[in-house]
Amino acid sequence: MVDANGYVAVCNQRAIDLLGLPSDLMRSNPSFEAVKRWQMEQGEFGAVTEQLLRAIKYEGINVEILDYERLRPDGTVLEVRTNRLPNGGMVRTFTDITVRKAAENAIRVSEERLRLALQASRMAAWELDLETEWVNRSENSMALMGISSGPSSDFVDRVHAEDRERVTNFRRTVMLEGSGTAEVRYLLPTGAQTWLALRAERKDEKRLIGLSFDIADRKAAESAIWQTANHDPLTGLANRALFQVRLTEALENAETSGSGVGLLLLDLDDFKDVNDTLGHAVGDLLLQEAALRLRSFAMEADTVARLGGDEFAIIVANISATGEAIARASEIVEALHAPFQHEGRALSTTVSIGLAIFPEHHRDSAELMKDADIALYRAKEQGRSQAVVYTSAARETMEHRVTIARDVRAGIAARQFVPFYQPKVSLVTGSIVGFEALARWKHPSMGLLTPAYFGSMFAEQAISLALGEQMIRQVAGDIRSWIDQGLECGRVAVNLSSAEISDPHVASRILGILEEADVPTAHFEVEVTETAFLGRRTATASSILNELHEAGVSIALDDFGTGFASLLHLKQFPVDHIKIDQSFVRNLISDDSDAAIVAAIVSLGHAMRMRITAEGVETTEQAARLREAGCDSAQGYLYAMPLEEARVPSTIRDWPLPI
Ligand code: C2E
Ligand code: CA
Ligand code: CA
Repeated sequence: MVDANGYVAVCNQRAIDLLGLPSDLMRSNPSFEAVKRWQMEQGEFGAVTEQLLRAIKYEGINVEILDYERLRPDGTVLEVRTNRLPNGGMVRTFTDITVRKAAENAIRVSEERLRLALQASRMAAWELDLETEWVNRSENSMALMGISSGPSSDFVDRVHAEDRERVTNFRRTVMLEGSGTAEVRYLLPTGAQTWLALRAERKDEKRLIGLSFDIADRKAAESAIWQTANHDPLTGLANRALFQVRLTEALENAETSGSGVGLLLLDLDDFKDVNDTLGHAVGDLLLQEAALRLRSFAMEADTVARLGGDEFAIIVANISATGEAIARASEIVEALHAPFQHEGRALSTTVSIGLAIFPEHHRDSAELMKDADIALYRAKEQGRSQAVVYTSAARETMEHRVTIARDVRAGIAARQFVPFYQPKVSLVTGSIVGFEALARWKHPSMGLLTPAYFGSMFAEQAISLALGEQMIRQVAGDIRSWIDQGLECGRVAVNLSSAEISDPHVASRILGILEEADVPTAHFEVEVTETAFLGRRTATASSILNELHEAGVSIALDDFGTGFASLLHLKQFPVDHIKIDQSFVRNLISDDSDAAIVAAIVSLGHAMRMRITAEGVETTEQAARLREAGCDSAQGYLYAMPLEEARVPSTIRDWPLPI
C-alpha cells in the first residue's frame, strides 16, 4: 500500500519475495518512486507483456484499477493490479501467473500439454458456437465449474444475476475487438459462490474460444485490502475516506428518490481527560464502546464512521422528516450517557452532536459537513451532552466570530485594548472602595467598542489569554501610577475569563506581573463567574484561586445568582467578595422576590465573612434599598460610568461627585 504522500506504507514479505526487492531498501521507509527506480535499474520493466489499462467500477466504490502483466527478468510473469484509493494513495497486488500464462501459451502448442496445464492452473477451456449456442468444454470443466459440454445457458444460469450483463458485454467485446476479459460471480453446484475470470478470442465469425479460471483467492485478498483501506482498525467503523464516498452516494440517492439525508457529527465530551488520566488503553476501550453503541442505532442503510480521534459521524439515509433525524440524535445522546463497566470501575462519557439535513440545509456535501460542524460547535458551547440542529443564524454568528477574531488579534497586536475603570462605592460612607477594570477597544475606524461587540472572544482560549495579559499589565501599571500620585484607589478588580481560569499558569503570571510593577496584592482583585468553577475546570480553578488568595489577592464571585453555583462552591473556593448580579438589582423596587433574594445573599455572605457589592445600580431608590439590606458597596451608572484612565485621578480627588 502506498500512502497519499507517495511512501510505501505496507509491503508484506510475499510481495518482497515475488518482486525480488532488497530488504534493506524496504526497511528504509522508501518512497514509491525510489522502489520503481531500483526496479528499473534491475531491468524489471523491460517487457510488459500485455498492457491492460482500464478503469472499472470496483465493489461499489469508485476506484480506478490499472492492471497489467509483467514479464520479470527471471522469466516469471506477474499480474499487477492497482487500486487507487479516494485519499490519493493506492493498493497494489501482485500475483504470480507464470503457470497460467504457460497454460495459455500451451493452447497453441498441443492438446495433451493443454490438458495438463489446465488442470495445474485450475482453468477450463471452452469453445462457443455462436449459431447453435453450444459450448464444447474441456474435461476438467466438471470439476471446476460443475458443468460439461452443453448449451451456453448452462453457464449463464449459474452466473450471479447482477453479473449477467457483464457476460453479454464480454461477448460483444470479443466479437467487436477480437478479444476480451470479464470477472463474474458464479454459483457452484455445492451452493458456494466463487469468482471466475473469463478470457476469450474470436476464432472466426461463428466461434469464440476461451478460458475460465477461479479467482476467488484474489478477490478475497482484494476485499481484505479494501477493508483495511476503508475502515478504522480500532473500532471497525468506516474511516474518513469511506465516509466521504458514502456521503456523496447518500446525497445522490436522496436527490433521485426525493428523500432526505441526516448528517450527524459526534464528538465525545471530555475524552481527552479520560485519555490523560486513565491512559490510552482505557481511552481505546471507551472509543470501542462508543462505536458499539453508535452502531446499535444505525439502520442497514446508514453509515457509522470514525473520522479520527474522538470524532464520529453517522449518515442517516432516507429520512422523510427533520424530526426523525432529531429524534435519532437525541436517542444517541441518551444512550451514550449510560456508564459502562471496566475493571470494576464505571466509565462514562457524554456526546455532543451537530446535525445537518439534506436538502433542508445544504445540498452540497462539503457545505453540509460545515453545517453539521457549526451545529456541533454550538452543542459544545451550550454545555455539551446534547444534539443541536444547524441554523443559518448559527452560521452567521460563526462567520461573524471568525471575522471578529481576526480583527481582535490585530487589535491586540496593535495594543488597541485598554482598561476603563468603574468605581465601586461604599454604601455606608459613600467613598470609593475600589474599581472594576473593563476592557474597551479603541478601534481605529469604529471608535470605542465595548464587550457587547467583542465579548464572544473571551471564549476563545488563545485570544482571551493574550487580551487578559494585556489588560492585567496595563491595570498593574495604572495602579502603580495612582499610588505614586498618592491617590486612594482601593482594590482594583480584573475579570478573568473561563479560558484564563483553565490555564494552570495564570496565577503565577498574574503575581509575576504585580511584582514586576511593584503593586501590592492588597490593591488587586480578580472577578470570576460561577461557570469558571464548574465541570472539568473545578480542580484547576480551585488551585489557581487558592494560590492568588494566599498571596493576598481578593477573589470576587461575579454575576452571583445567575449561574449554577451552589452554596457548596462558596465553601469550596476561597471567595472574599460576592457581586450580586444586575438582574436582581434592576427590579429590586418592584419585585418582592428579587428583594428577598438580595437580602438572603447579603446575610449568607456576611455569615461567611464575605463582602457584598451590588452591580448595575442606576437609581437612588435602589441604592437606598441595598443599604437597608446591609449590602456593603455598589457599582453602577448612578455613581459613574466606566472611565478612561486619564479621568481616574480627578475622579478620586474630587469624590464624591455631585449626583
Ligand atoms: P461584568 O463583569 O458583569 O461587568 C459589568 C458590566 O455592566 C459592564 O459592561 C459595565 O459597563 C456594565 N454596567 C456598569 N454599570 C451599569 C449600570 O448601571 N447599568 C447597566 N445596564 N450596566 C452597567 P461591559 O463593560 O460591557 O462588560 C461586559 C462584560 O464583559 C463584563 O460583565 C465582563 O463579564 C466582560 N468583560 C469586560 N472586560 C473584561 C475583561 O477585561 N476580561 C474579561 N475576561 N471579561 C471582561
Ligand atoms: Ca465583572
Ligand atoms: Ca458582573
